[in-house]
Amino acid sequence: MTPLHDRDSNTPSDSGGILGFVPVFHPERMGPLPRDAAQLFWDPDAQTQDPEARRALQSARARELVRRILETPVPFFRRKLEEAGIKDPTDFRGVEDLASIPLTRKQELRDSEAQHPPIGDYRFTDLRRCVRIGQSTGTTGTPTTTIFTRKDIWIEYESGARMFWRSGQRPGMIATHAHPAYLYGGGALLSGTYEYFGIVNLWVPPPDTDALAEQGIRAWMRFKPDIPFVGFSLGRYFEVCAKLGLDPRKDVGLRIPSMPGGGKGMPLITAGIECYAYIGSGCTQSPGAHLNEDWAVVQAVDPTSGRDVPDGQWGNLVVTTLDRDNGVLRYDVEEACALVREPCPCGETTIRGFWGGRFKDLLSCQGKRFQAAELEAALRGVPAVREPSLEWAVVRPQRDDAPLIVRVEQGNGNAADAAQACTGAVMEKLGIVAQVEVLARGTLARSGYKTNRIVDA
Ligand SMILES: [Zn+2]
Repeated sequence: MTPLHDRDSNTPSDSGGILGFVPVFHPERMGPLPRDAAQLFWDPDAQTQDPEARRALQSARARELVRRILETPVPFFRRKLEEAGIKDPTDFRGVEDLASIPLTRKQELRDSEAQHPPIGDYRFTDLRRCVRIGQSTGTTGTPTTTIFTRKDIWIEYESGARMFWRSGQRPGMIATHAHPAYLYGGGALLSGTYEYFGIVNLWVPPPDTDALAEQGIRAWMRFKPDIPFVGFSLGRYFEVCAKLGLDPRKDVGLRIPSMPGGGKGMPLITAGIECYAYIGSGCTQSPGAHLNEDWAVVQAVDPTSGRDVPDGQWGNLVVTTLDRDNGVLRYDVEEACALVREPCPCGETTIRGFWGGRFKDLLSCQGKRFQAAELEAALRGVPAVREPSLEWAVVRPQRDDAPLIVRVEQGNGNAADAAQACTGAVMEKLGIVAQVEVLARGTLARSGYKTNRIVDA
């Protein structure tokens, strides 16, 4: 432990000790010590740990979580443990006993916050022991609140660093993002993670208006980030570049990343800020994402039995966070995931996870189930509507046998065949009969972050 105050080495020795002990900057108090840029992993000890030893660590940390729930107490989760017959810490042996504990859904957390305002009765610490507070965007209803102690933030920073490192990012690069701020905690978390890692954090405002989008565009033209912007609002920047007479690729350095085909088979990299923002990171050698098992038990669960589904099959993403000041126990994220346990040639020894989409974005029509992202991928293949940006919405199907109603704004391409081309793309990619309405540019709602693509009739 370094002392808080040192004899300042810059103080001349002949100063007679007038300055005395003064605060001195120690880099390790603000962030991690440097790594060898050539090493494979950010945290080799944790990421290549023997799986048996890691399993023992998980069980020890899960037992500590259960002990704290019973002894703090944490009333909400204590009720869940009691339902499973766990009344004493010795009633819980380890990870293998998690399956007996009932799942917790987001609505239960909302109810807890309403009944025990402002933060509910599922917290492990007092709000005033925390240093940061955030709310969900509330796109699915009343926002839920996230609270972080310094340790909780540190676990996210270290987890994010594993992801950045694996994807080839290194301290000294310039990265940029346009995450929302203030009550929504995502922007502060991402900015903090970049700064902790040692990356230049170029945080531009979300492009809620054309003027705000232009601020970001001008900043990128000036500072030229090493890692180009990617995000839900990328299309907004392409659209505003067109209005400004700028080429988004040549003038601004933007590019559209290669899109995996919809939601299926994407790497599982987040369980949401209210649970575990940087739960995993995409492997560069194998499909899926390596999961940070030292800080979470991740399960793919059959919600009716509470048991794990077989490896490789889709189940509900259920997360128990470990070693945090404020954790969650058997939290059902209400998204689909699949897990594989076979060893990975990259050398990391953790399990890998796949993300199958949010259940609220899962649509069903004409006997087919699909994600909104799959529909978007189909429409993106139509040149008439994809430039300068693809703007679209789907009406949530009411009758299974009716055509799927899709609304698409006119792009730069040929207007006459846009509807027919979109109908053909949806049939070809999803096997669904669609009724496509082509609208004038600027008709649909814009958003600086996540645009709601599913509208009700
Ligand atoms: Zn791997």
